[in-house]
Amino acid sequence: MKGFAMKRIGEVGWVEKDAPKCGPLDAICRPIALAPCTSDIHTVYEGALGEREDMILGHEAVGEIVEVGELVNDFKVGDKVLVPAITPDWGALESQRGFAMHSGGMLSGWKFSNFKDGVFGELFHVNEADANLALLPEGMDPATGTMLSDMVPTGFHGAEMAEVTYGEDVLVVGIGPVGLMAVAGSALKGAARILAVGTRPNCIEVAKEYGATDIISYKEGPIEEQVMSLTRGKGVDKVILAGGGLETFKTGVKVIKPGGIISNINYLGSGENIEIPRVEWGVGMGHIKIVGGLMPAGRMRTERLANLIMAGRLDPSKLLTHRFEGMESLDKALDLMHRKPVDLIKPVITIKY
Ligand code: NAD
Ligand code: ZN
Repeated sequence: MKGFAMKRIGEVGWVEKDAPKCGPLDAICRPIALAPCTSDIHTVYEGALGEREDMILGHEAVGEIVEVGELVNDFKVGDKVLVPAITPDWGALESQRGFAMHSGGMLSGWKFSNFKDGVFGELFHVNEADANLALLPEGMDPATGTMLSDMVPTGFHGAEMAEVTYGEDVLVVGIGPVGLMAVAGSALKGAARILAVGTRPNCIEVAKEYGATDIISYKEGPIEEQVMSLTRGKGVDKVILAGGGLETFKTGVKVIKPGGIISNINYLGSGENIEIPRVEWGVGMGHIKIVGGLMPAGRMRTERLANLIMAGRLDPSKLLTHRFEGMESLDKALDLMHRKPVDLIKPVITIKY
């Protein structure tokens, strides 16, 4: 079979591979919709995971099942399924502790285009199908469904880790697709003001549609000064980091109230140490928490997030700015993600058979 792969750091292209094998608990799928991710760019062009040779990329997909293992109960050949980017081993000790995304070791629930071939192939393998897949709801556009692989669960996890609750003021740093979903998640959890940091006009427009009340440009002076001025020197209750570099942690500490939570969902692809400003961190006694996390996955969570879309409370299709047809468009779509033209939020590819 063919797949669109990272050939080595800095180089992508089509490769020929053996079809994946199905274990007793697993499923083999063919893609019906695919989306590239900023993380694919970190992987290929920054070598953030280290060297990989001819590894098929991609972890955002809606698929159709072509084979199931003999111990799979709830899915059958022909089912159309939502495929989470993270596919944990649910029996691992980390999973029993409540952190299935780290099953088998730090970040190890992230298997696609990391420890094994990703979803940008004619076929891809899903471990523990009953626990990891969810049915594509009747009536949901598969292109929209791809946003349930990573963008919705990651952005919403930003709001979850920040423990956003009614009436709080939340700062979201970075409004690419992940940050936009953090804005939408914070709004659904009851935030009052949502201050969003970004510069691209269509991201700003969509951020407002998802609930941002104030827009801050990091290109027009320090973020902390703008936040303090907008909040009359009070700062915010919660901060979600979804873009920028290590310096955003400093910004977060400088604008957060005592007892606040800084929640990072950004993939920190470079740099060494994160600095915490001592004084603003309450000289060590400010009850300010800093937390970061890989998205949680699993069938139940994926079904619940899909329910939000079907109930009309969330519309992630606003992220889909560039649409392609056919797997052969993968190189164009990934190249868009690499160049990030100003009108891009998220490209998506649909595949007909
Ligand atoms: P993106 O590049 O589209 O968005 C990041 C945004 O941050 C951009 O709009 C950019 O303009 C903005 N930005 C850049 N510098 C900034 C600064 N100094 N201050 C404020 N904003 C700044 O990326 P995305 O697709 O939205 O993904 C965001 C991050 O989330 C990426 O690093 C991605 O790899 C990561 N990610 C994490 C998970 C997870 O499970 N935690 C999952 C998917 C993606
Ligand atoms: Zn991703």
